[in-house]
Amino acid sequence: MPTDITNTSDELFEIFVNAQTFKTILHSFDDLCQSIRIDRKIIGYGKRSLYKVLTSKLTSWKSKSLWTKIDKRGSQKEYENGNACADMKVCIVGAGPVGLRLAIECALLGARCIVVEKRDRFSRHNVLHLWPYIITDLRNLGAKVFYGKFATGQIEHISIRQLQCILLKIALVLGVEIYPNVTFIDVIEPISTQQAWRAHFKPEAHPIVSTYEFSVLIGADGRRNSLQGFQHKEFRGKLAIGITCNFINHHTREEQNFEEISGVAKIYNPQFFSELQQQTSIDLENIVYYKNDTHYFVMTAKKQSLLDKGVILQDYPDAARLLARDNVNSTQLCKFACEAAQFATKCSTQFAFEFAEDHHGAADVQMFDFTSLFHAVNASRIIERNGKQILMLLVGDSLLESFWPTGSGIGLGFFGLFDTAWSILKFAKHEHPLKVLVERESIYMLLSQSTPENTKNNHQLYSINPATRYQNSNSKSCTIDEIRYLYDSDSIPTIDMNNNHVISNKSNRTPTRRTQSFKQAPSPLSLSSSSSDGNNQQETVFEWCEEIVNSYNINIKNNSKSFQNCLAFCAIVHYYRPDLINFKSLQPDRPISNFQILFDIMHNQLSLPLDRKLQNSLILSMKSSIEERIRQSSIVILQLLY
Ligand code: FAD
Repeated sequence: MPTDITNTSDELFEIFVNAQTFKTILHSFDDLCQSIRIDRKIIGYGKRSLYKVLTSKLTSWKSKSLWTKIDKRGSQKEYENGNACADMKVCIVGAGPVGLRLAIECALLGARCIVVEKRDRFSRHNVLHLWPYIITDLRNLGAKVFYGKFATGQIEHISIRQLQCILLKIALVLGVEIYPNVTFIDVIEPISTQQAWRAHFKPEAHPIVSTYEFSVLIGADGRRNSLQGFQHKEFRGKLAIGITCNFINHHTREEQNFEEISGVAKIYNPQFFSELQQQTSIDLENIVYYKNDTHYFVMTAKKQSLLDKGVILQDYPDAARLLARDNVNSTQLCKFACEAAQFATKCSTQFAFEFAEDHHGAADVQMFDFTSLFHAVNASRIIERNGKQILMLLVGDSLLESFWPTGSGIGLGFFGLFDTAWSILKFAKHEHPLKVLVERESIYMLLSQSTPENTKNNHQLYSINPATRYQNSNSKSCTIDEIRYLYDSDSIPTIDMNNNHVISNKSNRTPTRRTQSFKQAPSPLSLSSSSSDGNNQQETVFEWCEEIVNSYNINIKNNSKSFQNCLAFCAIVHYYRPDLINFKSLQPDRPISNFQILFDIMHNQLSLPLDRKLQNSLILSMKSSIEERIRQSSIVILQLLY
């Protein structure tokens, strides 16, 4: 009887809404789908098809209030009613907050979306600071249906695990498929025109993911990104040792009176920190305290204070060695965290902080090294093999690692994922790969500088379109030349060298090296001796050099200056590896500095054996004949390429 089915289903919906672990959420959702006899194979994937069935069958006030919210968000014009990316298949690696939130966008766009997650638990009590636009975004998606306490009053934070639970539930109702205990290993290229892109996962014989074919792959797998082909750069600051800890919140009257500290640094409140030091000998640079399901603290501590308090056993200059497990006394670390928490909350002497448990069942206190933070050099790549393109994108901590005490991580993470969804849309609309990449990389340049203050303030109007969020979103601040290397195609493009446009991609699809999508370089062997093959060879090399440097407005025919000031060398490096050199910043009247930049790149970025002899010969080549200069530069550049 239909009425019975509805009643049972509404009850199951309630169980799903209240489920609080990764496993129970998935199980209760399966039960719910079974109760309304949803067969995914029959209703199909993508185009929000599962969601449509759920909305027609579940009619409790709670479910209806959720549908109203999701329908409103889903009516944004970019989604085209769930048809914008209807033929697209997406694979997201990682069910962290950013991966799950992006999965929701993919589902709203109408794509089929699979998320693989190597864990089967959401266990991070640590708390994320929410920028105001994130609160609006999550409210508009119905977060309060799943977590009544979400952003009540002045609360602007949420635990990582609670956020994951909310996002997982929204993703599921929108038809996202989520597979726990599945680890992404690497992509599998199509080796014939009949095949599509797939991936290796662990376990290998997974019934769904091992045969899943997709054209968009997202790295949302946190700081240890596992997508190949993305370079990361390190930002090294001065030594910063972060401590996070979570204590059980018993919700007693005394605890209710603890005042949160939304972030205080020594320079802004020196008195707090000097009193802390006087009373406890703890020397901190800053501290954050949020009262959530747990009492959560994050603080950065001075090394000397940790040594004095016996938390760190031996002093080492290397941060990794300093914080290695065998150099940390965990009992002293717990004591240190408790003392800091007691001082920060001004609790009575009777009150005893009790640690919450981490996913290993141990006291939830951890010490992290924030001395170096990584960010990806690029946010996107497109690879084409045998006529099949794959768009690969990084999001969240894989793209831009955050410094937790400032609470910017998830704020920037969500911004980045909306930008990513925008690229997926453009890719689905068959925009030329280079255009998709130019736009993605241009917008990525804005990300790290974005703050709640310098982004648009009408959060209700935010969509995946970057123009609705960034004040000055220039989608063309990168040139095609700068991102060309991110498009790795086995089809040979025709490039109009005068205005840097790809005219067409020829249908010849023989697998080749990456460099074939660029101007084909002569063989380095043919250049190893100036006298070997005479004029013909010299001419080929000259033409090769000339054609490249001409696109940089450098004339090498009758002008030896461009070699003397190193600009011609740098132009050739930039043509193939624009990620390594900021060509526009080079100055023609500073040859030594330009050479130094070139040498640094060769030595530091490419690990080329750049001995003094080669350096000297390069510098000397400034004075030699034009043929010799070209030969020298070619050898160097070809070493970079091969
Ligand atoms: P994550 O949340 O790290 O999620 C990545 C997911 O990918 C994980 O679930 C991981 O299991 C999964 N994964 C990784 N590799 C694979 C693979 N090969 N196959 C399948 N799945 C994979 N931020 C703060 O602001 N304050 C904090 O106190 C704080 N504490 C943190 C504590 C820990 C232990 C960690 C790891 C992060 C913490 N962060 C904190 C950072 C914060 O969690 C992230 O900024 C935020 O969760 C957004 O990250 P994300 O979704 O990009 O990645």
